[in-house]
Parts: sequence; structure tokens; C-alpha cells
Amino acid sequence: MDEFIRILESKIPRKVWELWFSTLKLDSIDHEAKEVKLIVSNLFIKEWLERKYGKIIQKSVNQVFGKEYSYSINFETMNLDSQIERSNENPEPLVKKRPLILSNLNNEYTFENFVYGDENEFAYNVALEVAKRPGTYNPLFLTGDVGLGKTHLMQAIGHCIINSMPEVRVLYTTSEAFANELIKAFKENNPTLFREKYRRKVDVLLIDDIQFLIGKNGIQTELFHTMNELLDQQKQIVICSDRPLAELKKFQDRLISRFQMGLFVKINPPELSTRKLIVRKFSERYGVNIREEVLNYIAQNIEGSVRRLKGAVMKLLAQQKFSKSPVNLSEASQLLKELIDPPVSLQPNFRDSLLQLLASNFNVSVDDLLSSSRKKNISFVRMIGMYIAVEYFGYTPQEVGNWFNRGRTTVIHGIKKLKNSRIDDKIISKMILIRNHLSGRFGSSVI
Ligand code: ADP
Ligand code: MG
Repeated sequence: MDEFIRILESKIPRKVWELWFSTLKLDSIDHEAKEVKLIVSNLFIKEWLERKYGKIIQKSVNQVFGKEYSYSINFETMNLDSQIERSNENPEPLVKKRPLILSNLNNEYTFENFVYGDENEFAYNVALEVAKRPGTYNPLFLTGDVGLGKTHLMQAIGHCIINSMPEVRVLYTTSEAFANELIKAFKENNPTLFREKYRRKVDVLLIDDIQFLIGKNGIQTELFHTMNELLDQQKQIVICSDRPLAELKKFQDRLISRFQMGLFVKINPPELSTRKLIVRKFSERYGVNIREEVLNYIAQNIEGSVRRLKGAVMKLLAQQKFSKSPVNLSEASQLLKELIDPPVSLQPNFRDSLLQLLASNFNVSVDDLLSSSRKKNISFVRMIGMYIAVEYFGYTPQEVGNWFNRGRTTVIHGIKKLKNSRIDDKIISKMILIRNHLSGRFGSSVI
């Protein structure tokens, strides 16, 4: 019996275990039904474990009890008073102290987990203000491209309100779910229940991905009336959209005028320094051992969507399970190929593409590279180009010399010099990036 808990524990990061699994117990085993019965302290934890760790739990069950066994999780009915007493004596994970708050918010989408730099300080602070004083900016309208954290910030508002004001009813929904529910309500000839839910039983309404309602007139009308009632009662509304403000023209005028009563805030793509912080935060959260140069490589090469930054860390996490030491830069660049920003549209031949990539990555001009200039930085970039062509792609020093209007020995010398010097991580990651772009376009490189 204990073995099961031990095996499961070995598969779960320690922090996660402490937070979510600390109340897990093996209740009994029903050999007839071939079912392992587990028990946790509340419904919230039960649902969370099933959703997030169901597969790992099932695996451990199979490993210990056999292939045919399945599992179920039950929860203890809580006696809140004794729970609180106990938790006062002995600090336990936060979740246990809370009463049964069931929300459909993603637990990771909190203010603490949202990383921002100068580019999003405003958005962050406005969201925080709304969370602390609902009604201040009403409605709050968050816009920004896909994957930049709109849903995250919106749900952070929800979490914060639930935590600080448990009596306030927060409802998160997507506009698609809103639409489907409405259609169903009408089909069943019972819109009253729907209206009751959205207009009476909610204090804070979070509506995600409003762009889904463009062109859906009937649903916009319902949303208009919903918003009207809620705003009249000073209830906070937060709306997200991944379309630029100009596209909002496609909504009904009266709805637009409701949106305009509040505050529009744009979420911007994270800058490089923020991207580094985000990658660090993700790797800490998911227990990924990441080398500094790999972290920089990811932050430098994945711009825009934070979702892709997360994807990169998740890939490293998966890889970590198979290898003992953290991946190096070269392995990382292979592993993350598809996630790295797509190559710029390259020139039709190898030489011109190489020149173009060198120029754009190192801030020099192609003319400089082909000139007789001996300026240190220009010669250095030239050497890098020669190195890439010869060492990565197997062109001869003679050929490469011709490309750069130089002789064969200059190329050999340059490469040797580069090999003997210590090259900065930033430069190496750019070299790898250029190599990947070229091999994506012109076939595989030598290594
Ligand atoms: P959007 O709704 O704008 O498409 P999401 O809120 O779904 O984007 O964000 C995508 C993923 O990236 C989520 O896992 C989210 O937690 C994460 N994320 C986005 N922005 C940030 C940020 N600034 N800091 C930390 N994580 C972020
Ligand atoms: Mg979203």
C-alpha cells in the first residue's frame, strides 16, 4: 500500500507534491471491481488531481497493482471548524485552509505568475487595481495578440477577487461558451435560467475572446443586455479580444458604446529582458534545469507569443526525463527548431542568404561585408560567415573566399582565429540561428 504512494511521489516534483498531494491517501482496494480507491481532502483537489495528474496516477496504479486496475478519487467531507483549528496549529498548504471554492479558473493564471516589464507594467497595474477595487474601470477591455497573456491576466483578476473577497461571485466564460449556452437555453425554451445566471448571480463577469461574437448579431444583443444590467448594478466586467481596436467596429454600435464606457488596455509582446524572466520563471515552476546559454537562446529567438516560450520550456522538461545533464545549446537548437521564429524569406542562393542573415543578425550591411574594410567588428562578422559556410556546410575555403572577395588563406586563417578565441554565448546562439535558417532552406548542414 505504502509502495503505491512512494512510487507516485517519485514521479511528481516535490513542490507539486507538497501543494496538491499532501492529503492524498489510499483508502481501499476493491479487488473485485479492480479499483483502487484514493481519498483527498476536498473536491477542489480531487478535480485538480484528476485533470492534471490523472495519467501519472493511472500509471502508478498499473505499476503497483496491475494493468487492469483503475482508480477513483473521493474527497472527505470537511468539517470546516476543525480544519481551521488544525491549520492554525500547524501551517498547511493554503488550499486546505480554504473552503470549497470551485471555480473554473486555471490555477496557474495568477498575478504572482504573471511576469511583466516596462512594456506591460500599465496593463498589470490596471488589472491589479480592478482586482482590488472592482468597478474602478468598468468594463475593462484587454486586447493584444494571441498568446500574450490576456486570459492569464483576466483570470488573475478573478483569483485575486475570490481570495480576498470570498463572498463575491466571479464567473469566467468564453464568449463561445456564452453563445452556446444561450442557444441551448432558447432551444429548450428557457432563457430565464440563463439570464438569471448572467445577470443576477454574478458580481464579476470575465468574458474571454469576445472576437468570436463578430457577425453574431443575436448573441451580441443578449450580451448588450447582460452588460447593461450588470453595469447598472456596478458589477465589474472584464472583456478580452485578440483583435485590434479597429476591428471592434464590427460589433453593434450600442455594444461598442458600452465597451467605450470603460478602459481599453493593450497587452504588448514581452521585450527581451522580460522574455528571459518568463523563461526563468517557467523553468523554476516546472523544475526544468536550464543552462544560462539555452535560456538566452530561447529568449532571443522566440519573440511574440509567451505560449511558445512556455512550449520551449515544456520541450526541455520532456527531454530532461531522458537525459541526465541539461541540454546544451546545440541540442536545444535542434530540439526547439519548430518553435523558433520562422526564417525570414531568404535569398535564392546560399551565399546571398548567408550574407543577408549575417547582416541582419549582426547589424552590419552586406556592402560592409564585401568591402575591403578591416574594421574589427566587420572582419569579425565576416569570419563568422566564413566559419559557418566551411565548418557547418562544407564549402571549400576557396569557394567561400570568392564570395567575400578574399583569398583562400584569409578564410583558413579567419576560421582558425575564431576557433581559438572565446566566443560569447550571444554570438554562438546567433550562429546557431543562422545555421538553422540556412539548413532549413538549403538542406542539412554538416553537423
Ligand atoms: P492569450 O489569452 O493572450 O492568448 P494566455 O493568457 O492564454 O494568452 O497565455 C498563454 C500562456 O502564456 C499561458 O500559459 C500563460 O500563463 C502564459 N503567459 C502569457 N503571458 C505571460 C506573462 N507575462 N508571464 C507569465 N506567463 C505568461
Ligand atoms: Mg486567451
